[in-house]
Amino acid sequence: MQTLQTTELTQPPYYKPFSRLMKRLFGEPAYKLTIDAGFTCPNIDGSKATGGCTFCDNVSFSPALRTGVTRIGEQLEQGKKFYRERFGANKFLAYFQTFTNTYDSVERLKELYDEALDAPDIVGISIGTRPDCIDADKLKLIQSYADGSAEVWQRKLSEARTEIERPFVCVEYGMQTMHDATADYVNRAHSHQETVDAVELTREHAPDAHLCLHMMSGMPFETDEMIRESIAECARLRPDSVKFHHMYIYENTVMARQFEAGEFEAPTLERHVTLAADCIEQMPPETWIQRLVGEVSDSGVIAPQWGKTKLQIYNLISDELKRRGTHQSSHWRE
Ligand code: SF4
Repeated sequence: MQTLQTTELTQPPYYKPFSRLMKRLFGEPAYKLTIDAGFTCPNIDGSKATGGCTFCDNVSFSPALRTGVTRIGEQLEQGKKFYRERFGANKFLAYFQTFTNTYDSVERLKELYDEALDAPDIVGISIGTRPDCIDADKLKLIQSYADGSAEVWQRKLSEARTEIERPFVCVEYGMQTMHDATADYVNRAHSHQETVDAVELTREHAPDAHLCLHMMSGMPFETDEMIRESIAECARLRPDSVKFHHMYIYENTVMARQFEAGEFEAPTLERHVTLAADCIEQMPPETWIQRLVGEVSDSGVIAPQWGKTKLQIYNLISDELKRRGTHQSSHWRE
């Protein structure tokens, strides 16, 4: 695990941003390219539940609207073009984000991950999934990429299409909350124990993979104390990185209908900034901070409407840490 000197945590932004890990590993930023590999989700297709998580924007993921899903290589080329023109980017991570990206056979997963890793200038992959959609065989496949032994990566090296010995391989689990009552309310269809089990299984079978946990602030009926309990539990699981974002309500979702019916309120900016600062203070020193805010600019977001850019919200969180005189792991207890 990579750690920083405490002196680096006592300067803005007062935590370890994931971008710093990328620069450390690759000498420059590596930009995440979101791809839709055509997966579905057991929480939608009926094998675990139907309807999906109430906050999931699965209307726009519906098969009828996804017939135009292009090959992974084409999606990556489009993404690279954008970041090259805008930021002069050279290195990229393929981010399997849409739906549940381990929900298929090992053979099919291998085809998809191979295709992404084989593409030019791809230095790693990030795989977003549910904790109940992983097993030892899938993790062994992921480990073969993470330790660089996979045939696709060895060929890339031997053909001098990369100089990087081992790709960066991240598995991202949606933990969201440790409270099963909240998970039930949002129709998550997995328990917190399944998240704990997935973390343990990942450490056992894919020890070289980077493990990221997602958490949400402002879920319906959760008090600040409940969210702090989830933060403490996440810290106990010692993820390599964390995404802590606010709950946002997207149009045409079950959550949008519940919100419009007045069942709960949208989170406030002040509350999210406070809880994000709490989260940073409690994270272990080795954990990288991948994200601290959810979607704010998408036109489909109904609430909250904070009128701030993501950058402004990141700055508010750093300002809050400065005001408190704290930083990442100030309140970390092993
Ligand atoms: S697990 Fe993910 S893809 Fe599946 S319904 Fe929930 S948010 Fe949507």
